[in-house]
Amino acid sequence: MNIIFGPVYSRRFGKSLGVDLSPGKKQCNFDCLYCELDPAKTMGKQDEVLSVKEIIDAIKKGLQEHKDIDVLTITANGEPTLYPYLNELIDEINKIKGNTKTLILSNAATIDESKVQEALLKFDEVKLSLDCATQGCLKKLDRSHKGIDVENIKKGMLAFKKRYSGALVIEILIVKTLNDKPSEIEALNSYLLELQPTRVDIGTIDRPPAFDVKPVSYEELLRISHLFDSSLPVYIASRKKADISASGYSEEQILDTLRKRPLTLEDIEALFDKKSQQRFKNLLKEEKIKSVETNGVKFYKKA
Ligand code: SF4
Repeated sequence: MNIIFGPVYSRRFGKSLGVDLSPGKKQCNFDCLYCELDPAKTMGKQDEVLSVKEIIDAIKKGLQEHKDIDVLTITANGEPTLYPYLNELIDEINKIKGNTKTLILSNAATIDESKVQEALLKFDEVKLSLDCATQGCLKKLDRSHKGIDVENIKKGMLAFKKRYSGALVIEILIVKTLNDKPSEIEALNSYLLELQPTRVDIGTIDRPPAFDVKPVSYEELLRISHLFDSSLPVYIASRKKADISASGYSEEQILDTLRKRPLTLEDIEALFDKKSQQRFKNLLKEEKIKSVETNGVKFYKKA
């Protein structure tokens, strides 16, 4: 059983060491159509549970083997907040982690539980998924365990955000014909305007899914990103960027694009051809474009 995996590198976090709280099998309260793991019966609590000591011993060993880890990413073959000793675990991690940051990736289904919030408050960064703002979509796409209600998830996130001073990132995975409809995006947008997360990452299926569901194209993701209010820091987090061909944009088109949706340098390099990238640089020099940093990601927007 491999509790520790990686390290993997990310532009934003640097070197991340993964900690899997369910290395033996998938234990999740969702069974998402796009999951990379095989489909499995959903559960409300783990039935295969590691001890805190086993996990801490594995983390200590991992940190000894890899000296320069920037972040410990707590995740699971499934949902990490189903681990019953999460609160005790994060207390123990915080005693040994030194300067390493902590991040948890959760599907948010339990965020309305006060004991889950207590544990998550102790992480440096929390990333919660929110694919759907309506119950019908949640049932269809994330195939949630019985009793899980999207309204409770939304209320729980709002309550957590009020108490949390770290970075709260929301991740939305867009699946063709399932949650890409304007009405669903509008419902997400209104909710996110109320929540005011640190950042919103939108992506699509990048790896083979459990069921026959389809990703949307990068252009479609960009179009969807324009449906969110421009005050929300929406970041297109998709490897599909690599698949698109760059196009020519006039100065006016560049400014108009950045007015609708702030973009990262990565987006700009994917979307704009070489001449347009030069135009972008000129506009930046002329201060018609400015940069803003949100939780380690630099966005460019119209000044
Ligand atoms: S929440 Fe994550 S692990 Fe659980 S089914 Fe969905 S994608 Fe898979």
